[in-house]
Amino acid sequence: MSTPSVSPVPPPATTPRLSARGLVKTFGSTTALAGVDVDLADGESLAIMGPSGSGKSTLLHCLAGILRPDSGTVSLRGRDVAGLNERERSLLRRRHYGFVFQFGQLLSELPAQENVALPPMLLGTPRAQAIALARQWLTALGLAGMEERRPGEMSGGQAQRVAVARALITGPDIVFADEPTGALDQATGAEVMRILTETTRAAGASLVVVTHEESVADWCTRRIEMRDGLVRSGALARTSGTTAVAPPTTLAEPGAYGSRWGVAPGAAPSGVVPGAVGGMGGHR
Ligand code: ADP
Repeated sequence: MSTPSVSPVPPPATTPRLSARGLVKTFGSTTALAGVDVDLADGESLAIMGPSGSGKSTLLHCLAGILRPDSGTVSLRGRDVAGLNERERSLLRRRHYGFVFQFGQLLSELPAQENVALPPMLLGTPRAQAIALARQWLTALGLAGMEERRPGEMSGGQAQRVAVARALITGPDIVFADEPTGALDQATGAEVMRILTETTRAAGASLVVVTHEESVADWCTRRIEMRDGLVRSGALARTSGTTAVAPPTTLAEPGAYGSRWGVAPGAAPSGVVPGAVGGMGGHR
């Protein structure tokens, strides 16, 4: 008598942190996304590349809940978020996402520390506590002594560090960056990308970066290439070994992170959940 064969139990499937399937988005007669599938793993940094008009920003906006796709799904840790209404998507962004844009995410009339403190304050953290945390983040990003400066009183690279601090202060699941170095020279852009990728990874967030620059994509663990609203390569590939990463130790400002790692996001004030102001309002 033969022993009945036992089907091997498959290993538990790892749910991607973010997963999109069949995303379609049109603007009038323009098809910006023509059916996009993409996954983002824990700890992964993904560059969305492609020529102008290929749908990169529209994809980022759909993934981040800024735009609602016409059809398709976007799942955050297995929960579908594409169909949420405007208010729900706004909450989703505040609680789970951080944003870094080329410009426009900082409020020009507010000092750096208040810009960084805004997201936790919007989520209910008392002002003094939020400011204290913001100052720690600014120190961690090499901006000690610049807490009171307004964005207009800083260099482009410094302002983007403030933006990175603001994106990460609430411990988001994912940071979305749309051409984050677009307004910077090459050297400053590289420095901002290094800080963005290292800090995001060390904070346990995944990262999505829209860029048309190879040198920017090179900082990411994976890239996809878009053409005419479709992903031409790389959509579902995964890099391995990106989930458990020690805090960075080789930053431009030696020891810059030293004061930070016991503080945020793990020590973010209770009641504060990851997120951002939405990253959309404001101007410099
Ligand atoms: P990329 O970021 O690759 O430059 P986009 O996602 O911005 O591309 O745009 C993809 C296509 O969708 C382009 O043809 C663009 O003109 C169009 N598009 C994007 N946003 C809008 C909008 N709000 N209204 C009308 N057309 C849009």
